[in-house]
Amino acid sequence: MMNLSGLEAQKVRLIMHLRRQGVTCARTLAAIETIPREIFVPSTFQNQSYEDMALPIGLGQTISQPLVVATMTQSLELNDRHKVLEIGTGSGYQAAILSKLCRRLYTIERHKPLLKQAEERFDEMRLRNITAISADGMKGWPHQAPFDRIIVTAAAHGDLPRGLMEQLAIGGIMAAPVGANDVDQTLMVIKRTGEDRFEQKPLFAVRFVPLLPDIAEDTADIDPEFNQMNAYA
Ligand code: SAH
Repeated sequence: MMNLSGLEAQKVRLIMHLRRQGVTCARTLAAIETIPREIFVPSTFQNQSYEDMALPIGLGQTISQPLVVATMTQSLELNDRHKVLEIGTGSGYQAAILSKLCRRLYTIERHKPLLKQAEERFDEMRLRNITAISADGMKGWPHQAPFDRIIVTAAAHGDLPRGLMEQLAIGGIMAAPVGANDVDQTLMVIKRTGEDRFEQKPLFAVRFVPLLPDIAEDTADIDPEFNQMNAYA
């Protein structure tokens, strides 16, 4: 692992960069400062943990770019009474950030090996208010609904799944990338203002991996190179 002071200096630079890019929410920035992103990236990429870029995490998936994580987090206007649902646990990084800012975080991942690794990280970091399952997040989590906030970290093609929209509490906020294809996507912030009323605001262009139906049938585990639990010990 790279020497820590080097990573710490890079983290300070990243936080300044996020501020300049419009992330002004102090609680969001504090959460980004608290959660070590290097724990959530494969060992091969650890020296790039605090660069503002997405990185591969195995099984064709990515940990999102810090600016996107920060902007989505900020757009949710979280407080410590909120019950929040995340679709697409991936590395667990976004979940860890959210868990610091809400009462309880529920997160769903369709790749079991990714979920397992993320859960190990939550345990290691003693993040006790996260509940994670492997399921098809397009269906949401009906037994736990409604949610005060929902964040989708994979891109829906066309409309967001209706079941998911229905699980957002009235007055609640959802952040999600929406696009017609894999490259043209827009980060949307959606407020549910009534039973059948949703107000949408586009933020900026993003590129997420696709939101796919069903649980993935993984034939391979995560590449051992991608397993970096040891780096944390
Ligand atoms: N929030 C993650 C980003 C992961 S990338 C992080 O901080 O690292 C998006 C993830 O969404 C991928 O792991 C992908 O497998 C998952 N995904 C895609 N469609 C899904 C679905 N229908 N249900 C649950 N997870 C899904």
